[in-house]
Amino acid sequence: MPLGNPGAVTEIYPKSDRLLVQVISIIRMNGRLRFSPTRLILLLVLCIILSAGLIAGYRALTYQALNELGVESRNRLTLFVSNLGGALAKYEHLPKLISSNPYVLDALLQRHSPQLDATNLYLESVADSSGASDVYLMDKAGLTIAASNWNLDRSFIGNNYSFRPYYQTAITGEAGRYFALGIQSQQRGYYFSYPVHSENKLVGVIVVKINLANIEAAWSDRGDDFIVTDDNGIVFLSTQADWTYKSIRKIESEKLEQILLSRQYRDQPVQRLDFIDIEDLGDAGSRVKLTHKPGSKAINYLHLKIPMPDAGWTVHILSKTKSVRSTVVLRASLAGFGLLIVLLLVTLYAVNRQRRLALQGSTELLEQRVQRRTRELENEVEERKKAEQTLRDTQAELIQAAKLAGLGQMSAGISHELNQPLTAIRNYSENAQRLLERKQVEAAVGNLEEISELTGRMASIISQLRGFSRKSSGDHSRVSIDQSVDQALSMFKREIESSEVGVLARIDPELSVTTDPLLLNQVLVNLISNAIQAMASVKARQIEINAGIRNSGIVISISDTGPGIPANVIENVFDPFFTTKEVGLGLGLGLSISYRIMESLGGKIEVTNSTAGGAHFELYLPNE
Ligand code: ADP
Repeated sequence: MPLGNPGAVTEIYPKSDRLLVQVISIIRMNGRLRFSPTRLILLLVLCIILSAGLIAGYRALTYQALNELGVESRNRLTLFVSNLGGALAKYEHLPKLISSNPYVLDALLQRHSPQLDATNLYLESVADSSGASDVYLMDKAGLTIAASNWNLDRSFIGNNYSFRPYYQTAITGEAGRYFALGIQSQQRGYYFSYPVHSENKLVGVIVVKINLANIEAAWSDRGDDFIVTDDNGIVFLSTQADWTYKSIRKIESEKLEQILLSRQYRDQPVQRLDFIDIEDLGDAGSRVKLTHKPGSKAINYLHLKIPMPDAGWTVHILSKTKSVRSTVVLRASLAGFGLLIVLLLVTLYAVNRQRRLALQGSTELLEQRVQRRTRELENEVEERKKAEQTLRDTQAELIQAAKLAGLGQMSAGISHELNQPLTAIRNYSENAQRLLERKQVEAAVGNLEEISELTGRMASIISQLRGFSRKSSGDHSRVSIDQSVDQALSMFKREIESSEVGVLARIDPELSVTTDPLLLNQVLVNLISNAIQAMASVKARQIEINAGIRNSGIVISISDTGPGIPANVIENVFDPFFTTKEVGLGLGLGLSISYRIMESLGGKIEVTNSTAGGAHFELYLPNE
């Protein structure tokens, strides 16, 4: 069943396969066929389902990749936070420790050179050993009286930092923390402050400043970007230098003024970073868009944040989602490829199955046809065998009938042949009787011998006639051509003599053929009989019989000197019942039977008129 006609296809396939077969049919049609409305709707539905599946698949893959990126980013962020927290924790208790140092107290209370010098050296050694960038001591009014950088140009000594929030916190008796840009150093620093008490009275503030630039540098080449924002959302630590001192969210103008006053981030107004939230992804963070410079292309990031409440900060990680797209494209391609292979396999399976079904169908059909045809052929063969048998039987009957008819025609000659010796026998026996009465025994014996010879001759005539009339057994034997011709001629001995027919038979006595002797004899008898009859009207009568070898068989030719066969009837002489003889003289069976006999012997019979005018018959017999 061809696929080009899916309507018909569905008829012979199981219900479960029909949709598939329909789809394949549509694919294979290639626009060769016009789509029916049902097929068109089916195709549209398929397209919609496929598109929806593709979109859903793409989204699912994107979220999966974003979640994976989220997990990785959160791990890195946690590491960064613990790193940062660790760096800060190292210095957290240092101010408190320093505040209880006697040098510090002495310096605050006495403010004399030796105490101040000793404090400067002490603070310098603390800064050196702890790695802090600066350690300094302020009096109650915020004036720096001793500092680890006492001997440097940028020495804080003499500066008043009462405007700094870390001082303002500490002066209330609390430990302070603050991030700001150093006024002198212009370095971003984190400040830990602690009040110095003397006999329960607050006398000053000790400050430890650390430089965070090192941490920033250490994390700047990790692929992701980290930012640390203060509680106003202002970036003060960033792996991207141009993001620092910019806010990631809108800040009220009042607040902005306050920040400017505290000179936390130099003396410039805080700018806004172009940071746009696109989509919240829950635990995986959120998708954001960030433009580095005005006019440049926005970059998509996955944004995650962890608050550091002790420091009053929020630490953010920004991971580029570009890799997500390539991952999704790769996975989608792989999935698509896989799907394609599955589709291909399904199609192959379906096509194969369909072919198998069709093949099975046609094979069964073919088998049925072959079986039917075989039965028909068997019947035909049977019928032919029967027909052949009937034909053979009829042929045999015909041959037999023709023989008997021939015998009938020959009966006059036969009776003469038999009468003659019979009369002679009677005469001889009467003579013998008389001679015996006269006691002439010797002469009587001579007569009896004559009688015996004559009966022998009669017996031979009768045996020939019996042989001729006998039905052929179909047995083949080696037959001498010479003897066979002689035997046939001997049956016409009387006619030959009475009609004065000359017989010229020159046959090699060695020449023989394996055939049915009776049938060959009958053909020869027929031909000789016809020749004698044909020559009745002519004066010079002669039969010439020759034989020789042709190819692997034997050729016997019989020619007469009769009138020959007219050209217009020569084609018909082998037809049954064709005769030119008067009614009662010929049946028109002799030659047609001879023709069939020759055929049944595997040979043939042909006739022509010889140049002299008479008929010339040729018999060909294969030599088995
Ligand atoms: P029938 O002898 O009974 O007529 P045949 O089949 O033997 O039947 O011969 C058919 C016809 O062929 C004859 O009637 C005769 O016209 C022609 N025919 C056969 N043999 C000869 C021959 N030797 N010479 C001329 N005509 C012949």
